[in-house]
Amino acid sequence: LSRLRRTEPSVRSFIHVADAAAEREAEELDRRIASGEKDAVGPLAGVLVGVKDNLCTANMPSTGGSRILDGYRPAYDATAVRRLREAGAIVVGKTNLDEFGMGSTTEGSAFQVTTNPWDDSRVPGGSSGGSASAVSARQCVVSLGSDTGGSVRQPASFCGVVGLKPTYGRVSRFGLMAYASSLDVVGCFGSSVFDTATILSVVAGHDKMDSTSSSQDVPDYASELVSLDSLESKPLNGVRIGIIQETLGEGVDTGVVSSIKGAASHLERLGSVVEEVSLPSFSLGLPAYYILASSEASSNLSRYDGIRYGRQVSADDLNEVYGESRANGLGHEVKMRILMGTYALSAGYYDAYYKRAQQVRTLVKESFKDALERYDILVSPAAPSAAYKIGEKINDPLAMYAGDIMTVNVNLAGLPALVVPCGFVEGGAAGLPVGLQMIGSPFSEGNLLRVGHIFE
Ligand code: GLN
Repeated sequence: LSRLRRTEPSVRSFIHVADAAAEREAEELDRRIASGEKDAVGPLAGVLVGVKDNLCTANMPSTGGSRILDGYRPAYDATAVRRLREAGAIVVGKTNLDEFGMGSTTEGSAFQVTTNPWDDSRVPGGSSGGSASAVSARQCVVSLGSDTGGSVRQPASFCGVVGLKPTYGRVSRFGLMAYASSLDVVGCFGSSVFDTATILSVVAGHDKMDSTSSSQDVPDYASELVSLDSLESKPLNGVRIGIIQETLGEGVDTGVVSSIKGAASHLERLGSVVEEVSLPSFSLGLPAYYILASSEASSNLSRYDGIRYGRQVSADDLNEVYGESRANGLGHEVKMRILMGTYALSAGYYDAYYKRAQQVRTLVKESFKDALERYDILVSPAAPSAAYKIGEKINDPLAMYAGDIMTVNVNLAGLPALVVPCGFVEGGAAGLPVGLQMIGSPFSEGNLLRVGHIFE
């Protein structure tokens, strides 16, 4: 807690810090342990977690990074948060994000700009930038984020931490403010694969409050990790790894490419077979993602109408209530997405945009399925560059969207992907971290975490 208090003025990971409440909870825990109730405390007793502010937390502000929810205090915890609390974890605060998850830098928050702990003139990535910077700056042990098109993986890469995007449906979305429901997943950050695996086992599993949550068994992911005693033991013998060719070409920083190639040789030394694989539909994912995500967002965000949710305004009629509350409550990027989505769904354009994007989504899914029949894991960079300067892309939305090229396909296909730090490029005082993305078949989180742990 004292580290959080010391670092927060410069990092600004949290929209809301609950340090006093966390301190009280910790004291209560101490009291229970001292009075012999040791076994009554959960497996995560006393572990400080940060929670992205688009996940509802009972009696704690939950803004989604938007002015329209300023002052909103949900009556309930999101399922993932409830499960962490039941395991004894302490929610130490709500982390900053791009408004409703729409963005890649966390500059799109209505409240504050978060800085990258490796270099405070740079962005932490986004949209879960606060959750990534909080773990990176050791303000909390682990954190929750959400990943619709890369929002866990890209900030993990920018901040040099581990980030996991689970299979669609692995973790309940109940209590997660919907951005694009067919793509959204709750994800986990940790400073190690072990920590990340530990919280995944706690938050994953079926939930009757989310009909898309899977009832597949949840393994104890952390206990299935194997330790690496020596390189000679070739712990990855028999593992087939495909490097996605299309992710190492034009537009990708040379430093990133050499970090990924270095990671590939390391995986080979550990015993795996590494080959290049082509996914011809890879570049189609980005435009399809932005059409689908914006379309779903335009529908999901209609709930912020100034009546059910949102700022209350005094107005003469209903249209004025809607207009006033949305005009003042929503930010520029969110409005742009709503307009794009509404346009893509409108009668005259539906076939040309939405339907076509759905067809591309099927193509992307099939090409991954095909490649994952030949390889256990596909690897790529998590982002085409390391963290860039605050303000650098703020006025160039297309450049910002293009930065999501490595991650969006995985959401279109609903697959799990793990990001682990794998190298550095020049920049900042001591270099800037680069993350390796490992993609697997549905529900292969255990395998990804095992390989990631050995790699680490
Ligand atoms: N940057 C992407 C977007 O703005 C992804 C965001 C996310 O995963 N929430 O849509």
